[in-house]
Amino acid sequence: MERVKFMSNWEEYVRIVEPYVPGEQPNQPDMIKLNTNENPYPPAPGVVEALKNFDTDKLRLYPEPTCKVLVDAIADYYGIRSSQVFTGVGSDDVLAMIFMTFFNSKKPILFPDITYSFYDVWATLFNIPFERPALDDDFNLVAADYYKENGGVVIANPNAPTGITQNEEFLRDVIEHNRDVVVIIDEAYVDFSGKSALSLTKEYDNVLIVQTFSKSRSMAGMRIGYAMGNPELIKAMNDVRFSYNSYPMTRLSVALGVAAIEDEDYFRKTTEQIIETREWTKERLIELGFSFGDSKTNFIFAKHATVDAEEIFAKLREKHIFVRHFNSERIKNYLRISIGTREEMEKFIDELKGIL
Ligand SMILES: *Cc1c(COP(=O)(O)O)cnc(C)c1O
Repeated sequence: MERVKFMSNWEEYVRIVEPYVPGEQPNQPDMIKLNTNENPYPPAPGVVEALKNFDTDKLRLYPEPTCKVLVDAIADYYGIRSSQVFTGVGSDDVLAMIFMTFFNSKKPILFPDITYSFYDVWATLFNIPFERPALDDDFNLVAADYYKENGGVVIANPNAPTGITQNEEFLRDVIEHNRDVVVIIDEAYVDFSGKSALSLTKEYDNVLIVQTFSKSRSMAGMRIGYAMGNPELIKAMNDVRFSYNSYPMTRLSVALGVAAIEDEDYFRKTTEQIIETREWTKERLIELGFSFGDSKTNFIFAKHATVDAEEIFAKLREKHIFVRHFNSERIKNYLRISIGTREEMEKFIDELKGIL
């Protein structure tokens, strides 16, 4: 049979993108999932309560577009004004909004060669030119690389997947050299014993801090993220947001988000537990011949002295233990290991002993 040829040339006009590849979400009952930096503990009891009490009749109605109760709860928690808070569907959504809103210069935006691999995907999607200065041999950022003229700066701090944190002096240095563009500090992991740079937003009107409920608040499945900064920046983001999707967040995510941020005791207890398990895991990994930088996150980015990362990855996988391996040249010998419960990490270490 003869094939019909399309009359139109739509293929010429397709936006071609290479999508971000998230860590796999396998579904085995006995698995130990240490590959996407999720929290091993369930959401706070207050979240369960809020879910039980949720008025489903309200789902008839559109959500309140500014997410006011959640914005207020976040502002309250950090002691800032509500006009300084923007919420979104996970920090991925918040970051995409930031790229759309602030990175419209012809000059390249800057972020390191090794960092959260969504940044270059958004830059490509939105036609934003970008450059990626190389991290040094210890995976630290080099401040002077960010002095050049640019269209904006994005720094994950602590960085992912390296787990390395730059101190406040470093951030100040970069910001001082970039007063005419927006500087983003992505603090997805800051609650695991890092120090937030939020106070810098008081001094510098061009700095945005981005955080998420996905890691330290055990809510990855609910999709809640937020940005904090001066009200002019937040207003610009809201203007773009309301030109794109007026109701990004559901009534349920707003209600459960409020409950999550109000349960401070549970948050402290679970993050402390993860930090303690992280330090325990570090010691065991050293005994087994791994090396890694000083992670203040809920993961460890480690390489073994003699055995290839890919081999360890595959053998763990056979045992239904999932860690993350990146196939990029500079880091192909590393594994990113999320911190699970103490019990999960003990099992992980036991299996590692059999593999090495
Ligand atoms: C996990 C992560 C995010 C995205 O988190 P959301 O689940 O979309 O809130 C953003 N930045 C970094 C560096 C991350 O590791």
